[in-house]
Amino acid sequence: MAPLACVRCDAPGAPGALGCACGGLLEVRPAAPALEGEALRALFAARRASRAPEDRSGVWRYRELVAPDLPVEAIVARGEGNTGLYPAPRLAAWVGLDRGALWLKHEGENPTGSFKDRGMCVGVSAALREGARVLACASTGNTSASLASYAALAGAPCVVFVPEGKVALGKLAQTVAYGARVLAVRGSFDTAMTLVDEAARAYGLGLLNSINPWRIEGQKAIALEVLDDLGWSPPDWVVLPSGNLGNISALGKGLREARQAGLIDRLPRIAGVQAAGAAPFARYMRDPRGDLVPEPRPETVATAIRIGAPRSWEKARREVQALDGGVLAVSDAELLAAKAEIDRAGVGCEPASAASVAGLKRLVAEGRVARDARVVAILTGHLLKDPETTVELHRERGQVVVDGTLEAIGAALAGLI
Ligand SMILES: *Cc1c(COP(=O)(O)O)cnc(C)c1O
Ligand SMILES: [Zn+2]
Repeated sequence: MAPLACVRCDAPGAPGALGCACGGLLEVRPAAPALEGEALRALFAARRASRAPEDRSGVWRYRELVAPDLPVEAIVARGEGNTGLYPAPRLAAWVGLDRGALWLKHEGENPTGSFKDRGMCVGVSAALREGARVLACASTGNTSASLASYAALAGAPCVVFVPEGKVALGKLAQTVAYGARVLAVRGSFDTAMTLVDEAARAYGLGLLNSINPWRIEGQKAIALEVLDDLGWSPPDWVVLPSGNLGNISALGKGLREARQAGLIDRLPRIAGVQAAGAAPFARYMRDPRGDLVPEPRPETVATAIRIGAPRSWEKARREVQALDGGVLAVSDAELLAAKAEIDRAGVGCEPASAASVAGLKRLVAEGRVARDARVVAILTGHLLKDPETTVELHRERGQVVVDGTLEAIGAALAGLI
């Protein structure tokens, strides 16, 4: 497997280690791939015609850049990736891109309904290869749903730590259905994250949060697949919601490595969007010196990004700076207004995902994204993850109760026909 090194002090990391003695996170430092440029693009394209699971997967298809040293028989895959990239002209107009273009990359179309599957298939494959027996994570819901699925697929037991009463219904349903042992921790996600980290060290659990460097390697495939979808013609911006900051770290690393491998000839810019009540990174990046100061009481309707002490802030800072990017925060009202538009476009997403479009609208209004820009907004999770917030949001346009008569139906159709 490719070597691990500390992002803070460059010290080498042992395989399976959770972090560096200095407190920094570890990252994978891959060797340059044997193939480059057109040869690599042709290999990826050829795999689309294959029936082998490792070729059909929208993560493992790019394995030269994801986990090149992992033997194919160690791969756990269930067709992750291959998510839709939807042109969204009405939404483009809504956010103010009147001469540009907007695409929605719907990562909610992954097997368990969120982008987490891209990192999880690689994280679980690597952890089991390195000898982990019991897998674990802390989660606001999507990581646990994903880990529970991949652990079950691989026949490994798993335990998940979730903040009690703060997990959206769809995510909890998946996690218990796939057979994880669910520990509902009294406290926030941040409490659960600290505990699972300690428990992993104390009891030798394989930790599958995004501080696991192999999660990041898998999530890089979002960048590769977006570029592939666009015929390797990079957009001007990629915008995504940000909580624990693993995904923006992976996006930046994936884009940079795609350029190093000659897959693209210029880099898009990236923007991370936080919820205003859980925005320690947006605050920090206004003057990024010293350490990030956590938000002690994170609060937002977008439970997937309700995180006060994001663990990957150093990696995220490096990527935002390397890609000339931006970080901002939007209110819950802005986020829900964007969700309503995404839903009515026929695409739909869970609340946190809408932060990308809400943030883009703000970036265009402030002139930071040009009106003729080509932009990809990443939708991180599926509409059905949080049915309760969605029904509440669309309540006034929702269902009408009618008597079982044709006259009643006729009255209810007023204005439609
Ligand atoms: C995990 C998640 C996020 C946040 O991603 P980070 O890597 O924690 O920044 C955003 N949206 C959804 C739906 C998620 O599940
Ligand atoms: Zn270190």
